[in-house]
Amino acid sequence: MNTVMEQQAPAYRAGEHHSFSSAGVDFWYLVPSGSIFALEGIGKEVLALLEDEALDREAIVQRLLERGYSYDEVSSAIDELIDVDAIASPDGPKQMPPVPLQEFPLQRVVLNITNQCNLACTYCYEYSDDRIAQTAGKQKYMHADIAEASVEMLLQESGSRPNIHVTFFGGETLLNFPVMRSTVTYAKRRAAEIGKQIEFSLTTNATLLSEEIIEFLSQHHIGVTVSIDGDRELNDSQRVFHNGKGSYDVIVPNIKNLLKRHRTNSIGARVTLTAGVSDVRRIYKHLTEEIGFDAAGFSPATASPNRLYSIGPQKMDNVLDQFAALAWEYRDYAIQGRQHGFTNASDTIKELHTGISKAYACGAGLGLLGVGTEGNISLCHRFVDSPVGKMGNIKDGIDHEARKEFLNTHHIGARYDCHTCWARPVCAGGCYHEAFIHTGNTSAANLHYCDWIRGWNDVCLQIYGEIATRNPDFLNRFGEN
Ligand code: SF4
Ligand code: SF4
Repeated sequence: MNTVMEQQAPAYRAGEHHSFSSAGVDFWYLVPSGSIFALEGIGKEVLALLEDEALDREAIVQRLLERGYSYDEVSSAIDELIDVDAIASPDGPKQMPPVPLQEFPLQRVVLNITNQCNLACTYCYEYSDDRIAQTAGKQKYMHADIAEASVEMLLQESGSRPNIHVTFFGGETLLNFPVMRSTVTYAKRRAAEIGKQIEFSLTTNATLLSEEIIEFLSQHHIGVTVSIDGDRELNDSQRVFHNGKGSYDVIVPNIKNLLKRHRTNSIGARVTLTAGVSDVRRIYKHLTEEIGFDAAGFSPATASPNRLYSIGPQKMDNVLDQFAALAWEYRDYAIQGRQHGFTNASDTIKELHTGISKAYACGAGLGLLGVGTEGNISLCHRFVDSPVGKMGNIKDGIDHEARKEFLNTHHIGARYDCHTCWARPVCAGGCYHEAFIHTGNTSAANLHYCDWIRGWNDVCLQIYGEIATRNPDFLNRFGEN
C-alpha cells in the first residue's frame, strides 16, 4: 500500500517543442535546448504517447513492451529523450538559459567616429523623429585619443579572449576617415603587442569611397557593410542628400569599384525596408545580379507605428512571403552545395544549426559596447549619446554597476512575455532599441512582431530540415552542431 512517505516515480510529458515536417520527415524543435530532433523509430513512439498524457517510466516501458520493443531499447530511448529535453517532468520549472557571468569579457566595440552624415535618409534612427541620441552641442568628430582609449578599453576588458573586433560607425563613418585610418594602425600594433587577433569592419553609405579609401580597406582586410535600398527608384525614394537629390548615381560606381578592388574580406549590402521599399526579391536581384554583391541582408526600419515610413503589419506579411521565397531559393542552392547570398536565411539557419539558446537578444551590453564621439560608452551604437543605456565613459571606464543592472533586467528570464514562446531560443525578445522606440522600455519584449518572427523561424526550420536530410555536408560550414 502507498503511504504519503513513499516517493512517487516522476511522470514525464513531451517537452516544450515546435513540430514541423520537412523532406517527408517529422521534426521537433526542442525549445529548452534549441536542438532539432528527427522523429523516428522508438523515440517517435515514446513522444507520441507523451503528447496526450503524463506517464512514469514504468508505464512508458510497459506500453512499448506491448509493441514488441525490448526493455533495454525502451529504457535507453527514454534516457536519450530526457538528455535532449524532448521529455520532461510536467511539474518541472521552465528552463531558461543561465544568466552569464557578470564579468563577461568584451569582444567588440563600435566606435561612432562621427555623428554627422552627408545624406538625409527619411527613416534614419539618428536623425528622424524616432531618434534618441542627443548629439546637439556634442563634438561632431571623434578625436584619435578617444578612439585609441576605446581600443585600450577593448584590449583590457576582453580578458582571455584571443579574437577581438572594432567596428567603425557613424553618421557617415568615412566623414572621419583620418581617425579610422590612424585607429586601425594603432589597434593592430597594440593587439600584436599583447598577442590578440584584431579585426575591423565598417558601415558606410558608399558616397565617399575613393580609390585611396578602397585601397586602405583592402590592405587591412576590413569588412564592409554598404547601406543601399535597391535600384535607383527605390533607393532614391529614401536615401537622399540634404538637397533632396538621390544618392544612387553617386554610390553605384563607388560600390562597383569597391567590389572589384577589395577582395580580402566580405562586402555585404544592408537594406532598410520601409512602407515604400519592401519588394525584397526585386531588391535582392538588383543588388546581386546588377551591382554584384555576394550577400545582402534586410531589416525593417525601426519606427513608431505612426510614422509614414513605418512598414505596417500588412506589408510585413508580404515581406515574410518574399523572405520565404528567397529562403527556398537558398535551400535549392544549398542542396546543390552552392552559396546563396541571402544573409537573413544563412544567419538564422546557422543559429538553428548551432542550437543557439539565447540568454540575451543580442550582444549589446554583453560582449559589445558602443562609444560616442566624446567617449561616452553605451549599450550599442544606437544608444550612443542617448540618455538611455549609458555604460560609463572612456575616461572613467565601463560603469560595471550599470552593466550588471542591465544584464540582470534584460535576460530572457526577465522578459516574461516570452516564456511560453517557442521562438525564444533564437529571438529572446528582440532588439532593445526597437523595444524602446515602441514602448519606452528597453527590457520590454518586441511583441509587435512575434507572429512574424515565429513565421520566419518556422520557414527556416523547414529549410534546415530539408538541407539536413538532402545535403547535410552543406551545414558543416556553420560549425559544430
Ligand atoms: S518577442 Fe515575441 S517572438 Fe520573440 S521570443 Fe518574445 S514572444 Fe517570442
Ligand atoms: S540593441 Fe538592437 S541595434 Fe543594438 S546591437 Fe542589439 S539588436 Fe543591434
